Formats: sequence, C-alpha cells, structure tokens
Amino acid sequence: MASDCLFCGIVAGDIPASIVYSDDAVVAFQDLHPQAPTHVLVIPREHFTDIADLARDPQASAAVLAGIRGFTTEAGISEFRTVFNTGGDAGQTVFHVHAHVLAGRTFSWPPG
Ligand code: 5GP
Ligand code: ZN
Repeated sequence: MASDCLFCGIVAGDIPASIVYSDDAVVAFQDLHPQAPTHVLVIPREHFTDIADLARDPQASAAVLAGIRGFTTEAGISEFRTVFNTGGDAGQTVFHVHAHVLAGRTFSWPPG
C-alpha cells in the first residue's frame, strides 16, 4: 500500500466508495464523475502505478482482466469500453492503475 494513494485508501476502506464488485485481487467501484451510465473503475488491491508497472506482474495483470469480466458478467453487461490512461498526457490523474469500464451508451472512435 502506498500511504498517499487515494485508491489504496479505497481498498483499505479508509476512503468511501460505491463498491460494485470485489474479489481476492481486485476492487471495482463507481467513478466519482461518471462519463457514461455505467462508469466503474477496476483496480488491483496491490498498488501499481500504471499499466506498464502492472504488466511486470502477470498474475496481477490477469486478475484485473478477470475482475473486469467478473464485474461485467455480474452486471449483465456484454458491450463496454475499457480504458487504461497511462501518464498525464493520456489523461491519467490517479497513479494507482485502474481500468475504466464504461457502458450504457454508444461510444465514438477515435476517443478524444
Ligand atoms: P484517470 O484520469 O487517472 O484515468 O482516472 C481517474 C478517475 O478517478 C477519474 O475518472 C475520476 O473521476 C475518478 N476519481 C477521482 N477521485 C475519485 C474518488 O475519490 N472516488 C472515486 N470513486 N473516483 C474518483
Ligand atoms: Zn495505490
């Protein structure tokens, strides 16, 4: 756990969040500023900075994908967009890796 990390605080239960799915390795919760009818963040319980950091740990990487599948399956969502912003220029603002899972509307391509 990184002591100054917002999402580690959510994993620890120190910071409130609307948790929609969890398992041994991941927690999924509603984004504070949803960009679609469903906008959930799936994060590993363990602290990794970004997707490059996470990719060094194959087990944790697979757990995040399994968590995305677990949440969407439980929620009955079969069509969704998954985004990992990596670095400030790409829009990353919280440096605990997270998958945005968005659903419930049509999405354009390319993203802005
Ligand atoms: P990023 O910009 O790093 O890809 O995504 C960070 C996301 O975290 C944003 O979509 C933002 O709305 C969300 N967020 C920031 N602070 C909080 C918070 O305290 N609680 C929750 N649930 N989401 C947050
Ligand atoms: Zn963290």
